[in-house]
Amino acid sequence: MADAVAGQVAKLQLDEETGEMVSKGELKKRLAKRAKKAAQAKAKAEAPEKAPVAPKPKTEEAKISEPTNMFAQGWLDEVYKERPVKPVVTRFPPEPNGYLHIGHAKAIAVNFGFAKYHGGKCYLRFDDTNPEAEEEKYFTAIKEMVEWLGFKPYAVTYSSDNFDKLYEKAEELIKLGKAYVCHCGDAEIKAQRGGEARGPRFRCAHADQTPEHNLSEFRAMRDGKYKPREAFLRMKQNIEDGNPQMWDLAAYRILDAEHHRTGPKWKIYPTYDFTHCLCDSFEGITHSLCTTEFIQSRVSYEWLNKTLGVYEPMQREYGRLNITGTVLSKRKIMKLVTEKYVRGWDDPRLYTLIGIKRRGVPPGAILEFVNELGVTTAPTNIQLARFDQTVRRYLERTVPRLMVVLDPVPVVIEDAEEMELEIPFSPKIPEMGSHKVKFTKTVYIERNDFREVDSPEYFRLAPGKSVGLLQVPYPVKAVSFTKDGDKVTEIKAVFDKSGKKPKTYIHWVAEGSRNVEVRIHNSLFKSEKPDDAEGGFINDINPNSEEIWPHAMIESGFDEVKARAPWPEAAGESELGKGGLESVRFQAMRVAYMAMDSDSTDDKVIFNRIVSLKEDAGK
Ligand code: ATP
Ligand code: MG
Repeated sequence: MADAVAGQVAKLQLDEETGEMVSKGELKKRLAKRAKKAAQAKAKAEAPEKAPVAPKPKTEEAKISEPTNMFAQGWLDEVYKERPVKPVVTRFPPEPNGYLHIGHAKAIAVNFGFAKYHGGKCYLRFDDTNPEAEEEKYFTAIKEMVEWLGFKPYAVTYSSDNFDKLYEKAEELIKLGKAYVCHCGDAEIKAQRGGEARGPRFRCAHADQTPEHNLSEFRAMRDGKYKPREAFLRMKQNIEDGNPQMWDLAAYRILDAEHHRTGPKWKIYPTYDFTHCLCDSFEGITHSLCTTEFIQSRVSYEWLNKTLGVYEPMQREYGRLNITGTVLSKRKIMKLVTEKYVRGWDDPRLYTLIGIKRRGVPPGAILEFVNELGVTTAPTNIQLARFDQTVRRYLERTVPRLMVVLDPVPVVIEDAEEMELEIPFSPKIPEMGSHKVKFTKTVYIERNDFREVDSPEYFRLAPGKSVGLLQVPYPVKAVSFTKDGDKVTEIKAVFDKSGKKPKTYIHWVAEGSRNVEVRIHNSLFKSEKPDDAEGGFINDINPNSEEIWPHAMIESGFDEVKARAPWPEAAGESELGKGGLESVRFQAMRVAYMAMDSDSTDDKVIFNRIVSLKEDAGK
């Protein structure tokens, strides 16, 4: 007895700060707490006085603060320092000719995020100068995706809003002697550009026309005198410049198309090179951020604004985000959709934003992903697994847990009685609370958690072997089972009250649990480079990209999880009225992260797997 006490005392250690003798564990806890406090105080003392403060999360749930590293350091920080103005004004300028994809999420995060971080504003500007490719549905879908990602455009604008103003600027340019109407065809234009075989660059005779002549020709273009390709307006830039963007680019061309906003009013439409820099100028854009394929265009962008003497925004270029192991091009996705390899543009296996959304990926996880990658001038090539890893980490700390059995087999526990269990929604986040689940004499477990023949290295259920049922006070031991052909139809078991702790716990659901369908999505393609497949990307399609479990079951806690959606709670999805079924997210313990699919009805609930629980699972 005395020895035991002495032993215990010997185990105690001195807390030097308080002079108390405490257990080793307690001391460790205290020291860790003090170290954390000291680190916090140090960080506070060292923080620069005017360090930009990250916007406060909307609720107490500090676990989902907005990621801001990409703005506080690196390329975007340098861009801001180059022009440290207030307010920052940016724009996200999609062409409304298709659905957005994961790459666009970077552009959205960069433009909207940069403005938000600096307390400025960002326009959503539809770059609708190409009437032939535009469709109403894309306008709506693009705006919805921007809002879903948590951004509110300062205003939604259209390049076409400026058609009158742009036309005036074109006349102004002509009067300045800096634009001319040209009637050359493709071959002539090519010859003028010069080159090794063709000799030096030169201008055509149209460049020598007087401003008066050009003005009347331009008005004739406007009034329908010419057919498409018979005439176009060219800027008179600097053909001595080494940059092809200065070789008298087209400013206006004739198109035989009605515009979805201006109708038949215009026969001539401005080009990207003429429109973009001027619309940026009209909107007072301070930092015009675009991708690096526009580096060469910076010269012509600056030239036009300077020549016209209008406000000059600053264009800077960042690297595109490319994802390997999938295809993003509109044409290719269109083929997958029309040939029915996928369920539509929003198929959860696609990396369109509507597809990623439908799969259940939370918008916050996408922003976190972009933030983690950071922004530089180099293109970023990322594997799908890396994206999934970020999503998994995000879900791990933001969604509740439930039990879902994909392939149920009944276990009748002969000595069990019905009881009510109190199960926490998350073992890690007590604030999520708990819910009551009925435990029934018959429960359903996963078919592959049972083996007809036991073996020593196997730790789940088998005849004579016990396994823990998650949250249930006693393990169960199988005693017998019945089969129909090859298939086990029922397992009989008893509670194992020996007091021995089971090696493994498995998930289960009670009798009477809801029947649901679960769709497990695997990679749509077999390789990292679908485009390199012999015969094209279609030949690289993974035949097992969608596995369906039509008879899955989910525990009753689902009702509360659904009622409390969106998860993460208060993430803003519902505030914007965009929180659809996909915001009903949870971790199906031991199975996968899941979200409700938009195909669900009142009678039939369908889940998508968002991501597996571990990196290699399901590959
Ligand atoms: P297209 O290939 O048909 O021109 P796009 O992919 O360039 O289409 P836009 O609508 O022009 O689509 O894109 C809007 C904005 O998103 C542009 O500023 C563009 O630079 C940016 N963007 C497009 N793809 C990516 C990407 N993969 N990574 C980062 N930004 C992107
Ligand atoms: Mg484009």
